[in-house]
Amino acid sequence: MAHAVHAQRMSKLMLKTLRDDPADAETASHKLLVRAGYVRRSSAGVWTWLPLGKKVLENVSRVVREEMDAIGAQEVLLPALLPREPYEISGRWDEYGDLLFRLKDRKGADYLLGPTHEEIFTQTVKDQCTSYKDLPVILYQIQTKYRDEARPRSGVLRGREFQMKDSYSFDTTDEGLAESYRLHREAYQRIFARLGMDYRIVSAVSGAMGGSASEEFLAPAAAGEDTFVDCPQCDYAANTEAYTITVPPVEGESHGPVEELDTPDTPTIETLAEHLGVPASATLKNLLVKVDGEITAVGVPGDREVDLGKLAEHLAPATVELVTAEDFADRPDLVRGYVGPQGLAGTAFRYLADPRVAPGTSWITGANKQDTHARNVVCGRDFEVDQYLDVTVVEPGDPCPRCGAGIELDRAIEIGHIFQLGRKYADAFQLDVLGQNGKPVRVTMGSYGIGVSRAVAALAEQTHDESGLCWPREIAPADVHVVAAGKALQTELALEVGDKLAAAGVRTLVDDRAGVSPGVKFTDAELIGVPTILVVGRGAKDGLVELKDRKTGEREELTVDAALARLT
Ligand code: ATP
Ligand code: MG
Ligand code: MG
Ligand code: MG
Repeated sequence: MAHAVHAQRMSKLMLKTLRDDPADAETASHKLLVRAGYVRRSSAGVWTWLPLGKKVLENVSRVVREEMDAIGAQEVLLPALLPREPYEISGRWDEYGDLLFRLKDRKGADYLLGPTHEEIFTQTVKDQCTSYKDLPVILYQIQTKYRDEARPRSGVLRGREFQMKDSYSFDTTDEGLAESYRLHREAYQRIFARLGMDYRIVSAVSGAMGGSASEEFLAPAAAGEDTFVDCPQCDYAANTEAYTITVPPVEGESHGPVEELDTPDTPTIETLAEHLGVPASATLKNLLVKVDGEITAVGVPGDREVDLGKLAEHLAPATVELVTAEDFADRPDLVRGYVGPQGLAGTAFRYLADPRVAPGTSWITGANKQDTHARNVVCGRDFEVDQYLDVTVVEPGDPCPRCGAGIELDRAIEIGHIFQLGRKYADAFQLDVLGQNGKPVRVTMGSYGIGVSRAVAALAEQTHDESGLCWPREIAPADVHVVAAGKALQTELALEVGDKLAAAGVRTLVDDRAGVSPGVKFTDAELIGVPTILVVGRGAKDGLVELKDRKTGEREELTVDAALARLT
């Protein structure tokens, strides 16, 4: 015999709502998810998902899973505990630096907790696929990821342990990769639409993943840590990290290599200018600075000239050497991954005293090539903040690279990211399959992520109001929240209605708690944010209940039967 279906009784639910915001919480999602009893902090950036939270998390996972399955992706589950070797092969054991959680086993062998799994998926496909007939293949998993984030804040928006859907495509041709990418892009559009997310697709830089084409799915929200450029005139939209424009050259003097300037004392604007043979007020271009043999800064023309005074201050008391931009040719590491179509794109430098310079902020970069200004370097990611001088922020009104109109800037949360990786990992792991002509073909890859736990917080950010959470139906922990506002009569009717709804397949929560006032129950219902609230109150004796829409606040009194008919 099948189990009778009952509504979830709040008297039995492990749920403790809080009246006050957690002391350390700054964002609405952090405050509300904690107060409404969805999550609890375990340690910095590590969270426990309580019963209601787990339901929402599962709902997001289910939507993601359904849409991934619909494009023919196959679900797998790879380990999160990974050996060092594959990350050594890809170079990311070093590249990731402090972001990686590293550990040793009892024999002293190095392990890591997976931050993303390109390496392991590449190895898996190398092991499983041998012929072009085995491809294309798309694999995905929904898994716990680990990143030792520098600033794990904003609750589950940026965790050090978090849930990600990561998928990987494997094709033999560039056209195949383009198709796998398109399939993902469209699946993501369906996923975020179903989740009820307000989102934008923007151009992105590929960062630590390597590879070429890349777009981000951003959820506009004030709490977001990304800023994106939005053109009001055309459809151009880009993360500021990827905003690149070309501006006309500006007049200025170019300065060639000069011999080493050894400065036992703090160099001043005068000593530097004298050394260069220019007036202290000079506008310099293509000025490269070496501090103790390390290239650290470039001068740029026009309004972005090097301020010699600040430069001198910054470099003291180092050995300073000034050389030309040609030196960049040997230093691709200075522009990590940002070699644009016009050549080297630039490096960041505005004096760090600028209070706006914070890790994770995007800055305009200076030109080290005539006619080129690129704006895609992130301090703290690409450079150490206190190593660089003089950067200008991307500002509203800067030109759109497509149509020239003044751009707008908006804050957003990165909820998804899709990459055409190309052959970077396939080359590193020598991933070939036998081609049609019997010769080996190098495989080309894509990688695609969705922040599943972050999506929960992003939706909370976008949909909450002053009373609490306000979930889109598809991911809400229940469809209907029945509030028994009264005595035994009301509680009995509430449970009866709740069980009828549940039996009809409506996910129902019934607040049947004894000794809790109707006022507290209403407040909790608003806080928890189930889309429909059904109040069993005074009208109960006449068979009347009230339906309330959590989002619009619209109320309607109707008979129990009419309410049931409406909701089932
Ligand atoms: P961010 O720029 O916010 O640090 P990312 O670019 O490093 O994110 P990706 O490597 O692109 O992240 O990972 C894919 C997705 O995983 C992201 O789009 C985001 O939704 C999610 N994600 C990344 N880092 C975190 C985190 N610390 N906590 C929760 N979700 C995360
Ligand atoms: Mg990151
Ligand atoms: Mg990012
Ligand atoms: Mg990303």
